[in-house]
Parts: sequence; structure tokens; C-alpha cells
Amino acid sequence: MHPSRTPLIAGNWKMFHGGGSGVELAAAVARAAAHFPGAVECVVAPPFTALAAVAQTVAEIAEQVRQTPIGVAGQNLYPEEKGAFTGEISAPMLVEAGCHWVIVGHSERRQLFSETDAFVAKKAQVALAAQLRPIVCVGETLEERGAGATLDVVLRQVRAAMDAIASGAGAAVVAYEPVWAIGTGKVATPADAQEVHAAIRKELSARDPKLAERTRILYGGSVKADNAASLLAQPDVDGALVGGASLDVAAFATILRAAAELASRPTSA
Ligand code: PEP
Repeated sequence: MHPSRTPLIAGNWKMFHGGGSGVELAAAVARAAAHFPGAVECVVAPPFTALAAVAQTVAEIAEQVRQTPIGVAGQNLYPEEKGAFTGEISAPMLVEAGCHWVIVGHSERRQLFSETDAFVAKKAQVALAAQLRPIVCVGETLEERGAGATLDVVLRQVRAAMDAIASGAGAAVVAYEPVWAIGTGKVATPADAQEVHAAIRKELSARDPKLAERTRILYGGSVKADNAASLLAQPDVDGALVGGASLDVAAFATILRAAAELASRPTSA
């Protein structure tokens, strides 16, 4: 974590808590986030059916406890404004529901729904055009890692998204999520995560050093209360995209606290 970048901790709820329980979870997370204004930014990504109610709830808490650093994300979008796309949700619809963020290219979308780099890049582009900040997920499979192709795969995915969003890239966040670590309990070592994050930042720097300086690169893949601090302590890990542990308020609050404490450490510079 670098002092110039506010850490971002995002919770991807996947297909859990789509109704009243989602509102309860969001309220508890917002109250936890309210302890760390200015030190950490928090985002929750509930299922579509809970988005509007969650956005309203976190807005109410932010009004009571000023500067509560929490936002709401869609887990996905379809890259058209409207039309005959049964079952899909557009960027303007996410905005209307109260989102400021959207996750694109999650590995479950890439793997289960055959999303390509180009399709993910288009989603990121459409998100930005609608004033939604994309969290662009990238990551290699176990086979790709085994074949020594981690950086080739990850940087190919990063380039595809960055080429598409070019001038809007400053609003985007990249999430490195090794596929083999998602929901498996197998977490990348801090050193492995740092190596990939540094390579992503180098790729961004080749495009624009200032963009590289300010872009937050999150780690995702079995981040838990007990391993978050060591991952977040890496210089190029600027936050976390959390799946399973984001459904547990105590665990998620511990991850928020770890990020806030690291962010408020005095620097040697
Ligand atoms: C995710 O869904 O993005 C994720 C990282 O899940 P988990 O934390 O459960 O591995």
C-alpha cells in the first residue's frame, strides 16, 4: 500500500443477500466503514435486486455519520443502453439504482458466461461513459499459472481494458484475482501478489506514469480477516476485492480496519 493511494476494500456478495438481509448487511458494513473516514474507501456489490434499497440505506447512514466512505457497485452490466436483452441490466439502470461503481470481467463471468477480453473492455468503456467507475478483474487460471503464463494472461487482460478506456482510465480500478484463489481458501502469497501487481503497475506506467501512480490495484482471492494485513502491506496492493468474507460483517470490518491502519502508518519518506 502506498500513502498516495487511499485503500479500497470492495465486497462482492455474488448471488447472496438479494433482499432484506442485504439491506441489513449493508447497514452493518456502512456503520463499520464510518469508523475510517479518509483512511479507507469501501464498496459493496449486492445482487441487482438489492441495489436500490442498499444504496438508499448506505446514503441514509452516510447522512447520519458524515463522510462515511461507502459506495455501491453493480456486479456486472450489459454494454448497451437499452433494448431487447432479456435478463440484462444497463449502465444507466445501475446509476438509477444508486451505483457509482461496477465490477466487470469477474472470473466467474469470464468462465461461466464465456466473456472475452473484448467484451469486458467494452463493458468498462460503457461504464465510464455512464459515470460508473469500473473495477476491472483480471487473473490467471491454475493451468495458466502452471504453464508459467501468469503475467502474459494478466497483462493481456489489462491491456485489452486499458486500450478501450484510454482517456477514462484514471477512474478505473484493477483487481488482480487469480482464478485458483477465488472461493477456494488458497490465497496467493503476499510476494506472489506483489509480483503481479508490480507488473500491472509497470504496464500502466508505460502508458502514463501518472495513471500508474494513482490507479488502485486490488488483490482478490480468499482474502480473510487473518490474511488481509500481510497482503495489504505490499507496496503495490492498494486494497482488496473480497467475496466470501464480505458476507461476514465482523470479518469484513477487520479487513477494513487492517487497511485503515496500514494507510495511517507514518511513512519513512
Ligand atoms: C471474488 O468473488 O471476487 C472473490 C475474491 O471471492 P473470495 O474472496 O471468496 O475468494
